Parts: sequence; C-alpha cells; structure tokens
Amino acid sequence: MTARILDGKALAAQVEREVAAQAAALTARYGVSPGLAAVLVGDDPASVLYVRRKAEAFGRTGMRSETFHLPASTAEAELLQLIATLNARPDIHGILPQQPMPEQINPRTVFERVDPAKDVDGLGPMNMAALLVGRPRLVPCTPAGIMRLLEHAGIEVGGKDAVVIGRSLIVGRPIALLLLQANATVTMCHTRTRELAAHTRRADILVVAAGKARLITREMVKPGAVIVDVGVNRADGRLAGDVDFAAVAEVAGWITPVPGGVGPMTIAMLLRNTVQAAEAQLRSGKTV
Ligand code: NAP
Repeated sequence: MTARILDGKALAAQVEREVAAQAAALTARYGVSPGLAAVLVGDDPASVLYVRRKAEAFGRTGMRSETFHLPASTAEAELLQLIATLNARPDIHGILPQQPMPEQINPRTVFERVDPAKDVDGLGPMNMAALLVGRPRLVPCTPAGIMRLLEHAGIEVGGKDAVVIGRSLIVGRPIALLLLQANATVTMCHTRTRELAAHTRRADILVVAAGKARLITREMVKPGAVIVDVGVNRADGRLAGDVDFAAVAEVAGWITPVPGGVGPMTIAMLLRNTVQAAEAQLRSGKTV
C-alpha cells in the first residue's frame, strides 16, 4: 500500500478534547453547559445508532444532549411545533433534526424552521446562504470535517483539481463550495455525468459521496491523489465506503478508511458547531 491514511478517528479525539475544554470554560462562565436537542422521527436503525453515538459524544465532552424520539406517524405540523418549542428554550443551543424523515415530512421545511443560531447541522437556508457568499457560520458537519482532515494532514488545496461525486445538500454541494473557497478548481459529478472516470482520473483531490459500494476502482484514480470516501454502505455483510479501498490505496497518496475516516469527523464537527453556537448565544445574552 502506498497511500497514507487520513485518520479521522484520531483527529476526532483531538477535536473532542478541544471542545471539552471550550464547553468547560462556557459552563464555568455562564453556569450552563452547551445543550443539543436531537430530534428523531421513526425507527430507522442507522438513525437510531447515529443519534445514540452523538449523545455519547456529547456526554464525553461535558455537554448536554436530549433526544426527542417521535413515532414514524408524526405529522409535519406536530414536528414543526416541537421545533418552535426548542427554538424558544434558552437551555438548548443546538437543534438536530435527524434525516431521513418519514415521507409525510418535508425535511427542507423542517430545516427552514430551525432558528439559524441553533442550526448546528448548517442545513437551514441562512447558514447555506452564508456558505454560498463565502462568509460561513455554522457549516454542515461532514464537509467541515473533511476540510479539517485535509488541513490537519497539511494537504494544499489551492490550485488543485478537486472532483466531488454527489450533489446532495448535506455533503456534495457544501464540500464543493468549501473546496472552491479554498481555491481548488472544482468539478461536480452526479448520475447524469458522462464518463465519470474521465473526471475522476484528473482529480488531485477526489471526494466521493454517492452511496454506492466500490463505485471508485483503482483505474479511476490518478496516482498520488487524495481520496476522501464519504460513503457508508453495507456490502457482503460489512461496512464499506464508495471506494475499493485495498486496490485504490495501492495508487493513491492519501485515503480515508471506512469506518474511521469521515464518520468520526462528522460527529466531532457537530460537537464543535454546538459549542460555537452556544458561545454565540450565551455571549449575546439571548439565553439563560
Ligand atoms: P444522496 O442524497 O443519496 O446523494 C447521492 C449523490 O450521489 C447524488 O447526487 C447522486 O446523483 C450521486 N450518485 C449516486 N450514484 C452515482 C453514480 N453511480 N455516479 C455518479 N453519481 C452518483 O446521498 P448523501 O446523503 O450525500 O450521502 C452519500 C453517502 O455518504 C451515503 O452512503 C451516506 O450514507 C454517506 N454519508 C456519510 C456521512 C458520514 O458522516 N460518514 C455523512 C453523510 C452521508 P443524482 O443527484 O444525480 O441522483
């Protein structure tokens, strides 16, 4: 194997220590610890697991988290009422509506209703617009985690050819904007892209967020490239990314493992966003 590992697990542990120190300082100064409300509708097993992992991470860093677990039959209006209640609660600094949501609920409507100051997922229109105009505030967690991984490894982004596969609001679009802001030349690919491999072979930095196991093979990668695998898939009874890890690691310069790459960084950035949101709210005196 030639590639060096972008170790998200180790970096996430470091971010947790930083966040724990910030949370302790806020608690000492304002007498209230940063608090998250996670809202889960239905019983999607992956979501139940994610929310539990997030709650554990909040516990480890001395922050509070409350989980609101609603039945899959919950009406959109009922969920919006809960969001309004959480917006008004001074001891809640971050609100996390977990996706996916049941079909009667439009997630965009939900994200539009979260107070932008508490939008720790960065998916509401205000935080998305801030990112678009190049003045990021609360940045979506997965893309923020990817940028932190690149920065920590000392990977230069400016002037590089970056290719992003996937155009979701949660990963593809915001990571493309962050890479562009860091002066990469960015190409976005999706299911209507012709000759995907022609694009990926040019990439100095390849971010794959398609949700298709082994979409990226060795032949599709430029030797020495930085490979960021966001995908989480079940393949042959195991967890797998979107990249054929063993074969691609033979030619890449850097690569994220799955698990242990982007996943832990996503949770770490949720912690960071929540402490950042709490600090802004406590400082402005909007809460207790
Ligand atoms: P999504 O909303 O399903 O979007 C997938 C995107 O990939 C779409 O834009 C789609 O194109 C594109 N795509 C799918 N198959 C493709 C193909 N064969 N060739 C080119 N483009 C293709 O997914 P998402 O929410 O962004 O998540 C993507 C993956 O990342 C999933 O596996 C998810 O579980 C994982 N994820 C991981 C984390 C983490 O923390 N590790 C966080 C978020 C997501 P179209 O737009 O044309 O349909």
